[in-house]
Amino acid sequence: MVSPHRTKRPWQGKTEASAKKEGISYDPTCYLCPTNTRINGVTNEDYKSTFVFTNDFGALLEDTPLFDYNEGLLKAEGESGICKVICFSPDHSVTIPDMEIPALVKVVETWQKEYRELGNDPKINYVQIFENKGAIMGCSNPHPHGQIWAQHSIPTEITKKTESQKSYFDQHNAGLIQKYIQQEIEQDVRIISQNESFVTLVPFWAVWPYEAMIVPKRQMSNIGMLTEKEKADFAEQLKILTQKYDALFDTSFPYSSGIHQAPTDGKAYEEWHWHMSFYPPLLRSATVKKFMVGYEMFAMAQRDVTAEYAAEKLRSL
Ligand SMILES: [Zn+2]
Repeated sequence: MVSPHRTKRPWQGKTEASAKKEGISYDPTCYLCPTNTRINGVTNEDYKSTFVFTNDFGALLEDTPLFDYNEGLLKAEGESGICKVICFSPDHSVTIPDMEIPALVKVVETWQKEYRELGNDPKINYVQIFENKGAIMGCSNPHPHGQIWAQHSIPTEITKKTESQKSYFDQHNAGLIQKYIQQEIEQDVRIISQNESFVTLVPFWAVWPYEAMIVPKRQMSNIGMLTEKEKADFAEQLKILTQKYDALFDTSFPYSSGIHQAPTDGKAYEEWHWHMSFYPPLLRSATVKKFMVGYEMFAMAQRDVTAEYAAEKLRSL
C-alpha cells in the first residue's frame, strides 16, 4: 500500500533529536576506541584500520548446550554461535560516508574474511553481517562499528530468500535477483546509482521511506567471491549511498543495514545472489521518523512516499 498524500498531514507527534557528529577522533571513555580497556578488562589493540573482537555481551554463545524440546504444539532447540564487533575505523567520529575508498575496501575485506572463517566452522551454518547506525536505531555507541552474528541454525529471513530464489532458479534456470536487476536497469526509475559491477536502487517492494539495496550485477552467492575491481566498486557504491543519505536531511543518517548471502552449511546455493539492504527509519526530516505501528503491525506495511520518488530524491543529491 502506497499513500503519498499522507505526508501532507500536519505532524504534532514525536520528533527525534537530530544526529550531530561527535567531532572528536578519540574518546577516552569509549570502549571501541584503540588502546581503551573494555568493561571485561580486555584492552583494545592500537588498531589502524578495522578491528574485530568477540562481543563481550553476545546474544549467541559457543557453548550453549544442545537440546530438543518437543511438546505437543511447542518446539524449541538449543542454539549456539558467536557474535563479533567490527570497528570500521580507529577514528571515533568517522562514519562510512566519511571514509575514503581504500579504507572502505578494508571494511569489505574484513567482512569477506569473517564470512569465510566463521563459515568454515562446521558448527556455523549462517553468518549475518549488519550495522545499526544512530541512537534512533538503538545503537549504544557512536563509534562507527558493525556486528556479525554467526550461528548454527539458518534464520527465517534467509530460509524464505533461499526458498524463493531456489524455486525461481529451478523453473527458469536463471537467478531471480539477476532478472530483477536487469528489469530495474532497463526501466531506470528506481536506480539511485550504478557503476560497472554494482547497482544501487530503491527496491520495488520497499517499505521504509528511503529503503535501498546495493546489488552486484554479476550473480554470486556470497561476498567472498568479489574480485579486486568488484571490491572497489562495492566500496564506491557504499560511500555514494551513505553520502546521499547524510545529504537528504542534512544529518548523520540512521539506518540498519545488512548483507544477505548464502548459508555456510556446505551446500552449493547456485541460486543465491547476495545483496546489501538498508532500512532507514527517517520519513520527512532529521527529526520525524516513520512509525511501523497500528495498521502496519496488524495488516501490512504502508509506504508514505513512492519508491520512484525516493529514488529520484536520492539520485538528485
Ligand atoms: Zn570510540
